[in-house]
Amino acid sequence: MRPFDLIRPESLDEALKALALPGARAVAGGTNLVDLMKLSVEAPAALVDIRRLPLHEISLGADTVVMGALVANSAAAADPAIVLQAPAISEALLSGASGQIRNAATLGGNLLQRTRCGYFRAADWACGKREPGSGCAAATGINAGHAVLGTSPHCMAVHPSDLAVALLALDATVHLRSRDGARRIPLGDFYRLPADTPHIETALASGELVTAIEVPLTAPAKTSRYLKLRGRASYEFATASVAAAVLVEHGVVAEVAIALGGVGTVPWRDRAAEAQLVGRPLSAPSIEAFCDALLAGAVTTPANAYKLPLLRGAIHRALERSATS
Ligand SMILES: Cc1cc2nc3c(=O)[nH]c(=O)nc-3n(C[C@H](O)[C@H](O)[C@H](O)COP(=O)(O)OP(=O)(O)OC[C@H]3O[C@@H](n4cnc5c(N)ncnc54)[C@H](O)[C@@H]3O)c2cc1C
Repeated sequence: MRPFDLIRPESLDEALKALALPGARAVAGGTNLVDLMKLSVEAPAALVDIRRLPLHEISLGADTVVMGALVANSAAAADPAIVLQAPAISEALLSGASGQIRNAATLGGNLLQRTRCGYFRAADWACGKREPGSGCAAATGINAGHAVLGTSPHCMAVHPSDLAVALLALDATVHLRSRDGARRIPLGDFYRLPADTPHIETALASGELVTAIEVPLTAPAKTSRYLKLRGRASYEFATASVAAAVLVEHGVVAEVAIALGGVGTVPWRDRAAEAQLVGRPLSAPSIEAFCDALLAGAVTTPANAYKLPLLRGAIHRALERSATS
């Protein structure tokens, strides 16, 4: 690990000033960034420890909940408003990592954690995400766990966050703050497809902080569920996951949102495919037709093609669970 400065600001203004220093990076729980520093994948000149900033609250409004970026994953998962009114968020958080890590990890850090692709995390392999323009060792390497949606010849690394998948299904908005002021961006616009710039992963600008995540508490959000399939029952990232929120009225789908994890280079959602389900019964054939549309653009390798049938099964189950919640 290379030497670095540690800055511990007491206020948001101080933090934003420190983040404007060359090579400065925010650190919250450190469960991802420090890990990557130890692997020499990340080498910030300065760490700005943001944990003293007043971003630890969960505020429940009339029809939204706003979660501070420094709320611990475990605290958000146990919050009564989240559990009752947006259960997919709680289920997604509880499906990630371990109890100890969830206590240290924060919501903002979870959204900005970097991929678990083994070629990204090992500095001696080609990886355009780690070293722009260097190629993608996964394309011809071990790629059974890699993405089937949103890939490019330059990157097929899976986005690792469970939380982001649940938030995408619930139409969450990310609150951002920089020295230029505050802005809000829908989570669906926050992540960037790799294309030929896989090192540019989000819309976060240099020196900008995530301050909060806002979730509308809609009727479908209350029925939302998160289903995660993985190699072992705990302490494992998703092989495929589904956040589903469906409202069935008079025997047909009135509203539906389905987001996918473990299969895309970004948390994945296809609103045009969802629209096909609206007005139809939530039956096996209509869900299959939805899956056909959703997965039409999937690109597989011999090693990761198994993810498509896995995902179809997960979508059926997640929708059934949401519909009966
Ligand atoms: C063994 C293990 C298993 C795990 N399993 C899962 C899993 O199954 N599912 C899952 O979703 N996650 C999993 N995680 C990831 C874990 O949840 C994340 O590491 C954690 O949420 C990151 O939060 P943090 O506060 O520690 O982030 P940090 O490590 O402090 O930061 C991560 C990144 O976010 C940036 N950052 C942090 N906060 C902000 C902010 N407010 N504004 C701007 N930038 C910010 C940092 O600069 C850094 O780039 C696992 C982690 C480990 C170590």
